[in-house]
Amino acid sequence: MPARAMRFFDPHIHVTSRTTDDLEAMAAAGIRAIIEPAFWVGQPRTTVGSFEDYFASLIGWERFRASQFGIAHFCAIGLNSKEANNERLADEVLELLPRYALKEGVVAVGEIGFDEITPAEERAYVRQLEFAVENEMVVMVHSPHRDKKRGIQRSIAIAKEIGVPMERLVIDHNNEETVEDTLSSGAWAAFTIYPHTKMGSERMCSLVERYGSERIIVDSSADWGVSDPLSVPRTAALMLERGISQSDIERTTWSNALAAYSQSGQIDTEALLASPEIDQTKLYNDNSVLRGQEAKVPGPVPN
Ligand SMILES: [Zn+2]
Repeated sequence: MPARAMRFFDPHIHVTSRTTDDLEAMAAAGIRAIIEPAFWVGQPRTTVGSFEDYFASLIGWERFRASQFGIAHFCAIGLNSKEANNERLADEVLELLPRYALKEGVVAVGEIGFDEITPAEERAYVRQLEFAVENEMVVMVHSPHRDKKRGIQRSIAIAKEIGVPMERLVIDHNNEETVEDTLSSGAWAAFTIYPHTKMGSERMCSLVERYGSERIIVDSSADWGVSDPLSVPRTAALMLERGISQSDIERTTWSNALAAYSQSGQIDTEALLASPEIDQTKLYNDNSVLRGQEAKVPGPVPN
């Protein structure tokens, strides 16, 4: 079976910063579902209202926008590690969690964790883990780009201490140096494929050849920087080329992420298996994604 006939789940993409061309290309490449975790937006926010509007757009407009291209959009809500260092604002944002993280379509608390590994980051991480435990939520953990190994070890140790069940913990942005710590903890190990960097598709294939596919997840983390919203299908195609088994490809690019995040009770797996119904005559708060184009309406999806 050619890779393009497969279906994919990209469980980490900041699609709010991507264009409709990207959404079309993602759908055409077989991406059926995505998770958009709340994150930093490039410019530090100065008031809690900016977070409120951002969280509202993740559960509202962005969910609608993705649906208009046949992609099921889920999100994770949380205070990112970078902005946790603005402690006055952090407290106000943490107060918002119950209001947004328990809404329909939210599959995890995230992405949370460490950036510079500061005491303020740890405080925000602990509070959000406690919230996740109280509400039996999945947790998506961002790991630092610098001092990654120490950041991941510490993230796992704290999550264990707070009582997060390891099967509900997803550690993201792993690499060869951290994969064993993450897998041996019992958590899910997600890998972000960045184009033109060390953690590219080739290295991902080697990791799957070495460690297999159990609890291993591939994602794009595509955002407003140089990144690739098609990382997941591209990596799957390379895996196929390198002779990695269909079942390992399917697990790392579809069913593992589905298993991890459907623990939230928010994902209708049956609906994801059916072909997507696109109805572009729909509006969200009176707004459409179209600018005078002909609306796609339900019917057989052309291949
Ligand atoms: Zn991210």
